[in-house]
Amino acid sequence: MIIKGVDAKSILNSRGEKTIQVFIKTDFGNFSASAPQGKSTGRHEAKPYRKSLEEDIKTIKKFSDYFSEEILEGFDDLKRIEDIVEGHIGANTLFALESAALKAIAKEMKKEIWELINPNAKIFPRLVGNCIGGGGHSKLVNNKKPDFQEFLLIPNMKSVKENLEKNKKLKEEIKFLLKNKDDKFKGEKNDEDAWSTSLNEKEVFDALKKLEISLGVDVAASSFFKRKKYYYENPKLDRIREEQFDYISNLIKNFGLFYIEDPFEEEDFESFAKLLKKFPDSLIVGDDLTVTNTKLLEKAINLKSINAVIVKPNQNGSLIEVKRVCELARKNNIKIVFSHRSGETEENILADLAFGFQADFFKCGITGKERLSKINRLIEIEKSLK
Ligand code: PEP
Ligand code: MG
Repeated sequence: MIIKGVDAKSILNSRGEKTIQVFIKTDFGNFSASAPQGKSTGRHEAKPYRKSLEEDIKTIKKFSDYFSEEILEGFDDLKRIEDIVEGHIGANTLFALESAALKAIAKEMKKEIWELINPNAKIFPRLVGNCIGGGGHSKLVNNKKPDFQEFLLIPNMKSVKENLEKNKKLKEEIKFLLKNKDDKFKGEKNDEDAWSTSLNEKEVFDALKKLEISLGVDVAASSFFKRKKYYYENPKLDRIREEQFDYISNLIKNFGLFYIEDPFEEEDFESFAKLLKKFPDSLIVGDDLTVTNTKLLEKAINLKSINAVIVKPNQNGSLIEVKRVCELARKNNIKIVFSHRSGETEENILADLAFGFQADFFKCGITGKERLSKINRLIEIEKSLK
């Protein structure tokens, strides 16, 4: 495949923020892809744009003819694109450019995108669905909200389709649980289309524990950590490092939590390691801790901080690096969790990447068109292999 031209423009994501969409022209047609945008971003994430979205769009237009010498036939050929644009554009722009290129390569090679990564892929990831939100993704309800960012349902049925049905059904049940428990609940939803509530995290877990399903949480602890302290909505509950460790341990014990993401701030690899040692049967997941970066994942592996890692392709931008992160995780028995961002578009390539890299989990909400476009693509792949 030869790229005949590249273009880009700005579009709006699910939060109404500007993001980038990249277009590629080849002899086989026109292809496009867009990038999501996080809000509770990790300190060490790659920058989404080199200077600004507008500057990146200008750069893409300027580079439009530079790719025409390269023949791209497989996933690893994305390296040729990276060699041309390296240092000139940010992670969101690179992710959208490489995603559009993958779509073009797949079309020309008469393959699905996931087949370019691994033609023998066969195991489907388990869904991780955000049912109730708090923290940086949610507005206050009657001046209150949970400090933790996401309360997650992790079904384990036979197929992706059944897992989605289960999550949808439970999310409706949870609406009634919240109505009963939270007299301020008005059915409002947050950035990821999860329910917003005035309950605190303990009250939320108390409601969810009645459900017959594995439960998870994304604490997103960096978002409420400042100068050696975790600051809670209720100032009486502010916690220092050790107190945060004890609180998280008690929640895991009392509510039988299966999945715990970013329970501590992003520099505290030691507390993660202590928690994993105490709860080896739970998934201790790094997101802001590792930001889809091989060096930080290596550090987390060496310090035994985690047994699962979030992969958000636009935290890095380079899909070649995403591949390295997945290979490193796999080699070290670290579970792979492909994840959406809180600000999403209807781009669905995340499903092909997750299946191609044989992710163990797919964290992508439960409802909302930007979330369902990805889960439905996973279901489409599942159907095609039956
Ligand atoms: C997350 O923290 O897992 C998440 C999806 O949030 P964001 O996209 O805002 O980083
Ligand atoms: Mg997270």
